[in-house]
Parts: sequence; structure tokens; C-alpha cells
Amino acid sequence: MGKLNSKIPDGPLAQKWTKYKASVKLVNPANKKKLEIIVVGTGLSGASAASALGELGYSVKNFCYQDSPRRAHSVAAQGGINAAKNYQNDGDSVYRLFYDMIKGGDYRAREANVYRAAEVSNQVIDHYTALGVPFARDYGGTLDTRSFGGVQVSRTFYAKGQTGQQCLLGCYSSLNRQIKKGNVKMFPRREMLDLVVIDGKARGIITRNLLTGEIERHGAHAVVLATGGYGTIYYLSTLAVNSNASAAWKAHKKGAFFANPSFVQIHPTCVPQLNEFQSKLTLMSESLRNDGRVWVPKTKDDTRPANNIPEEERDYFLERRYPTFGNLVPRDVASRAAKERCDAGYGVGETKLAVNLDFRDAINKQGKKAIENKYGNLFEMYKTITGIDPYEEPMRIYPAGHYTMGGLWVDYELMTTIPGLYAIGESNFSDHGANRLGASSLMQAAGDGYFVLPNTISNYLADEIRIPKISTDNSEFAEAEKAAVERINKLMSVKGKQTAASFHKRLGKIMWDYVGMTRNEAGLKKALDMIRELRDEFWKDLNIPGTANELNMELDKAGRVADYFELTQLLITDALNRKESCGAHFREEYQTPDGEALRNDEEFAYVAAWEYTGEEKPHILHKEDLKFEEVEMKVRSYK
Ligand SMILES: Cc1cc2nc3c(=O)[nH]c(=O)nc-3n(C[C@H](O)[C@H](O)[C@H](O)COP(=O)(O)OP(=O)(O)OC[C@H]3O[C@@H](n4cnc5c(N)ncnc54)[C@H](O)[C@@H]3O)c2cc1C
Repeated sequence: MGKLNSKIPDGPLAQKWTKYKASVKLVNPANKKKLEIIVVGTGLSGASAASALGELGYSVKNFCYQDSPRRAHSVAAQGGINAAKNYQNDGDSVYRLFYDMIKGGDYRAREANVYRAAEVSNQVIDHYTALGVPFARDYGGTLDTRSFGGVQVSRTFYAKGQTGQQCLLGCYSSLNRQIKKGNVKMFPRREMLDLVVIDGKARGIITRNLLTGEIERHGAHAVVLATGGYGTIYYLSTLAVNSNASAAWKAHKKGAFFANPSFVQIHPTCVPQLNEFQSKLTLMSESLRNDGRVWVPKTKDDTRPANNIPEEERDYFLERRYPTFGNLVPRDVASRAAKERCDAGYGVGETKLAVNLDFRDAINKQGKKAIENKYGNLFEMYKTITGIDPYEEPMRIYPAGHYTMGGLWVDYELMTTIPGLYAIGESNFSDHGANRLGASSLMQAAGDGYFVLPNTISNYLADEIRIPKISTDNSEFAEAEKAAVERINKLMSVKGKQTAASFHKRLGKIMWDYVGMTRNEAGLKKALDMIRELRDEFWKDLNIPGTANELNMELDKAGRVADYFELTQLLITDALNRKESCGAHFREEYQTPDGEALRNDEEFAYVAAWEYTGEEKPHILHKEDLKFEEVEMKVRSYK
């Protein structure tokens, strides 16, 4: 540990994965049964991994904090899942998908991992189809596709606006099969509170039973975190409100490096905040930009209803600024462009913090039925929330926190810097650089879980076959349990007046104002100070009703917010360190004359992997230099 070794296999990019799989160490079926693996998380990455590892014959223990694995946040994914099938014969290929992701991520991702993600994408679609996921089909019965931002091909497979739900149900059915067979033991309503490391290796976790408050020890030969992203760090975001970073953060404090924490995606098409009491924002899928046109009035402070504004007085600002990609520019670009128009006074709606997403032309051309077939449930959702019928009037949209490209640092095998600890799906930093392209997260999460991890984990476990079942009666488990209990007691004993949610809301506001879509040095430093002050107030005035020995959702929240106070500081440190703009990380000091991100490849073409050194001590920065052998680093342009 300490030094980064990304373990990228030798050889040409297109052959690395094939070669790796052919030479990786295997575990024979009899030994697999004796090896226990903990998988924390049941989203697309966790449920895929748990079911695939169970199918292989390992003894799997699968954890989630929801009452059922099928309620993992992945269920919310709407628009689609990418694959390089080239069904449209529009020039797609594994290489093009890889290239789009590298460029989309603004050249801050590791080539070998990204290529592999593109390579296994086709298997993911075949697998889901075999599981019965009802992907949309065209008239001839072939799987249909649509386009997402940052690409010029149509490679996104979808199930209306419920792709995540349908894919998760597929994962869930294969997971249930393994539960029934006894290969996977399911632990719902459990929250991982700490990682247990013995002799430098991940050997288990400490959990809290969220219904009874009981603290439990679970041992295993390897631990896989599939715990999702930390977009709720902004409080208001498109994520499920309970999404959090605590599992990853606890692993970080036990030695797993945290990579690029400041790379956070702000999604351009969300229903704008309606009032102060809101606890979450709703996404309107990027797929809508296939047919919806984004515009604002050409006149400042124009208060006319959208339908009364004539064509020549509308500014289709994405089409104007980016004629090549138009409304399908990547998310970071679209979000900043919307913010720029609103900041300049052209926003619409009461708050003026919104732009129009208009389907008038698409409905006129394709008919209402065609639009309904593609986006019906999204239109319904929008109408329920806002009272506005998007078949009749444009939707109003504004950017919101959505996805975290940053996460636990992993090598090519998806192992963190703690041997035996893996991170998959959104919880790792691996494939999306500084900006994720739409529909590539489900692709990565399912690819990691079904096809990558089951291959790479055997390379580690092959050397563990002589290690007997991990006992939880030892000092490492006792110490981790003691620390978890002490932390709960500390939270419970503050006995102040303010709720965890009220602190989270204030923390999120600081993050949004100073560490959101655009950042600058003064603002980042100010945010650091404000967050430290707020954290001190939290530890003096937090109120948690009830006790720790029962169902106590206020306690659950408080623990997660306490971790966010720590993670935000690392996130800001990372944003301050990266004196360039790349992808979603936009430092105002580093921009081109026309307001685009200005990278500094000389000094920052690296992954920033941060090592924890103790409470209140500065993190140590480790740099993984990014070498581009297949792709030339260019200025990213969608004009
Ligand atoms: C509204 C919305 C729409 C989206 N649409 C798309 C889309 O169309 N296409 C696309 O590619 N991507 C989309 N995304 C992104 C995508 O949904 C996520 O990145 C992806 O689903 C993450 O999957 P995951 O398996 O990594 O984690 P998650 O689905 O977030 O699952 C995390 C799991 O970890 C468990 N967990 C976390 N912490 C703990 C703990 N401490 N103890 C125990 N269990 C824990 C949870 O219980 C849960 O089971 C969307 C995101 C949002 C917010």
C-alpha cells in the first residue's frame, strides 16, 4: 500500500482484457464454496456482483440499508444504458464508445479501464435481454436505441424512462435465484459502519441492524463495496435521499485512497427547485434532449408565456453555441450554458433559474403518440410535480447535483489500495474521468458486477484458499465494533436542538454556492471555513430523538451527515489542488475566452488519489499519471 500500482496489463489496448482473462489465476469449484465474499450494495453493480459470484459458487453475503435489494438507488435511472452494438449501422464500435468516454471525461480517465467498460457493454445488453429486461424494440423486433449527450451515434438501449428499474428487476431476479439456492445470504436493513482490516487485508465489516439497532460483525475473505455515489452531498440532488458516502468514507479512513473527489456531475435537465421545504430534486432524463429543444427568450426578463414567444425571439442557445452536437452536448457543457444564460438574466419562470425544454417541434413532426411512447412516464412525472403539461407547454429545467465521477481509487482489477477490498459501480472513480456521459453509468455498474469483478477477484482469492473462515472473535473486529459504538454514542450524546437534515441542508447550500457548477479559489477557501464552522456547530447542537437501540432514522442520517462534513473538506481540497478546468470541474480562473474549460495537461493529467492520515491531519496526495497511448489529448470541442 502507499504506492499506486494500477496493474494495467501489457499489450495492445484491444487485447488487454482478453489476455488478462486468459492468464488470471482461477479458483476451483470446490474451493469457491469455502471462500466468503461480502458485497455491500444491491444496485446494478452490487446485485450483479452478488448474483454472478453466487452463480460461480462463492459464499456471498449481500448487504443493503433498504428493506429490499430492489429499492437500491439504481431503480431511479431513467434514460438508458449504452452498448457498442452498432445496431443502427451508424458507425459505432467498441473503439468509438471508448473514445467518446475518454473525450467526454476530458482526458482524465484511465484508458485501459475505459476500453474494457466499452468492450463488456455488449455482453451486458445480451445478459439483460436474456434475463428478460423489456428493452424497447423497433417495428422489426430488434432492440431500439436512442442518443445521449456527447456522442453522434445512437447506442443507448432503453425501457421507456424506467431503464434502471427494469434492469434492477432483472438483477434482482437473478439475485433471488442465488438466495434461494443458498449461495447468497441477504442482509437488508443493515448499514455498514466500518471496514475490518486484519494484517493489512479487508476481512469484514461492522453493521448496524437498522430495525433493532444491534451492532453486528461479519467476516469474509474479501469485501466488495458497491455503495453508490455521494451526489447528496449537495443535499438537493437527483439521487435517492438516503444515498450517502459513509461506507466508502469509512473504507477510506482504513486505508483506501479516495480519487478525484471534486469530480461531481451537475445534470442539466432537472425540475427546478419549487420551494424551501424540498428534500430532493427530480431528474428529467437526458434522453429528452433527443427530441426536446433547449431555449430561452432573446429578451431579458421576458415574462410572456413560452407559447406566446415567437420563433424569431427564441434563443436555442445550445444549437447556437454548439452546432455540431446541438442539444446533445455533454452534461457539463449543457449545465454551464444554462447557468450562463440564467446568470445573464434570460432565465424563465418565477425564480428566473430555469430554461425551456420544448417538444413542440418534435410533436408536430412525429405526432404526440410517438413522443408518448418514448417519454410518456417522464411527461407524466413532470406534470404531477409542476402541474404543467409538457405536451402543451415547454418543460422548465435547471441543473442539479447528480453523479459523482470521484470515488475510491481502484486498479485495473477494481481493487482499492487495501488488498481484498474492491469498489465497483459509482462507488469507484474508474471510468468517467472528469465528466460522465449519459447512460454509461448503468453500463459500467452492470459491467463491473457481472463481467469484470467475477474475473478479477479470483486472482486475489486463488491465494486465499488456505485461509479458513474468517473468525469475528478477534481484536480487529472488537476494536472496529467499539469505534462504531463510540461514534453512535457521541452522536446521541450531543443532545442539542437542530436536526441532522437541517445541518445537511446548510452544508448542501454552501457546497452548491461555492463548490457547484463553477468554482474559484476564494470561494473554495471560504467554503472550507464555513464548513468547519458548521461542523463544530453540528457536534455541539445536533439533536437525535429516541435511542440507538431501535429503528432511528434520525441517527442514520446524523452518521451520514457527520461523514459528509469530512468528505466535503477533502472534496474542496481536491478542487483547490486542481488548478485547471476539466469536465465538470470548472475553475473560473482557468477558462478560454469563450468560456470553455481550459485544461492543463502539463501539470494535471493525473488521477489525484488521496491518502487519509488521521483526524484533522492533512491528506497525502498520490498522483497516478495518465498515459494516453491510443488517444491523442485534444481540446475537447463540441462546436
Ligand atoms: C435520477 C437518476 C437517473 C439516472 N439515470 C441514469 C440512466 O438513465 N443511465 C445511466 O447509465 N445512469 C443513470 N443514472 C446514474 C445511475 O443510476 C447510478 O450511477 C447507478 O445506478 C449507481 O449504481 P450502483 O450500483 O453503483 O449504486 P446504487 O444503485 O446507488 O446502490 C447503492 C447500494 O449500496 C447500498 N449501500 C450504500 N451504503 C451502504 C452502507 N453503508 N451499508 C449498507 N448498504 C449500503 C444501498 O443500500 C444500495 O443497495 C441516474 C441517476 C439518477 C440519480
